[in-house]
Amino acid sequence: MKLHKGDEIIITGGKDKGRKGKIERVLTKEQKVLVLGVNLYKRHLKKQNEKNPGGIVDFPRPLPTGRVAIICPKCKKPTRVGWSSVKGEKHRICRKCKQLI
Ligand SMILES: [Zn+2]
Repeated sequence: MKLHKGDEIIITGGKDKGRKGKIERVLTKEQKVLVLGVNLYKRHLKKQNEKNPGGIVDFPRPLPTGRVAIICPKCKKPTRVGWSSVKGEKHRICRKCKQLI
């Protein structure tokens, strides 16, 4: 998986195109990431008890990784992730500035 929890990303497609956020959760199997506050959909909840009265809430849906680009913490530009092999271990690098990210 090229993306990690805590990575800063920008959305490159869909209804929230151009918005930025931080990855909250990585869903490796589905190749999706959950970003708080983006890709929100309304969800109707039934009343459960006095504490959870239900109603309409905003609920973030995971985004396919193909629709997000990582923002490189070194050069601050949206980029794609490349791989660099250091002593047999794979490390992520920014394709733009070639630094480890
Ligand atoms: Zn960079």
